[in-house]
Amino acid sequence: MSIEVKNLFKYYGEQAAVKDISFNVKSGEIVAFLGPNGAGKSTTMKVITGYIPASSGNATVCGMPVNVDSLDTRQIIGYLPEHNPLYLDMYVKEYMGFVAKIYKMSDVKDRVSDMIKRVGLEVEQDKKIGALSKGYRQRVGIAQAIIHDPKVLILDEPTSGLDPNQLVEIRELIRTIGKEKTVMLSTHIMQEVEAICDRVVIINKGEIVADDKASALANESNVQTVFVEFDKSVSKSQLKKITAISKLEATESGWLIESTETDDLRKLIAQFAQENQLLVLTLRKEEKSLEELFKNLTKS
Ligand code: ADP
Repeated sequence: MSIEVKNLFKYYGEQAAVKDISFNVKSGEIVAFLGPNGAGKSTTMKVITGYIPASSGNATVCGMPVNVDSLDTRQIIGYLPEHNPLYLDMYVKEYMGFVAKIYKMSDVKDRVSDMIKRVGLEVEQDKKIGALSKGYRQRVGIAQAIIHDPKVLILDEPTSGLDPNQLVEIRELIRTIGKEKTVMLSTHIMQEVEAICDRVVIINKGEIVADDKASALANESNVQTVFVEFDKSVSKSQLKKITAISKLEATESGWLIESTETDDLRKLIAQFAQENQLLVLTLRKEEKSLEELFKNLTKS
């Protein structure tokens, strides 16, 4: 197991930020740590990276407890904190060299140029960090997190504040790095999970409320939604005769129909069409959305 968190509590003074959370991340996984603002994501990540101590419970990375062995675990962990603290007055190459020296690396020059290539910073490498766009600054942040070739990478909100193009590029970079490393990334954006991650751990108000594969979680919701388009117009009151319906919404070309029954709603709709001499032009089961589940699990 790459990351193991067991019965972890973290208090800031009287306030509990994280309450009795436990989860594991297997080697090679890319796991999303998803939750609304203030849920406890950064706090948990700071404990895992050994930046702050837990109040109780424990966290281990590759079998090493982070609290007592913090310097050793930092050698196997790469960390991109939420606000990506960079030295804006330093040049990209200079900063990367500085980080490599902190890790006491011997082949600093080669390693820096490898990293610059790896994260796509070649064109920007001679600029000051302060002159870079947010997307390129994130690349510098990711490069400093992987320069010592850690086994585990912890990324706190790595795509927040990026424009749509930068977002796609950074996700792609994380996916590529994730082929070789265990990655845990925090986010409050659902699409991020679907785009990058194998598994998702959802946290709300300091507690874990879900932990599963993204696709399995989406299917857990017992609501089925079907889109249907008939050849003739049909009124809401007519459709309401389909007994299993829990929600009806007219769209431009047809109807979105929801049901909480276990029977396949499409069968009932087909039957309704037959009884009312209607032709079904489109009948489509909508993918269940993780977003819906997230909303349900984290609403206050
Ligand atoms: P997230 O990363 O999910 O947005 P955080 O871990 O930053 O959540 O915060 C969890 C809770 O702990 C919030 O209520 C936040 O206000 C509180 N908190 C975070 N850091 C501190 C701190 N240094 N001192 C006091 N409270 C804090």
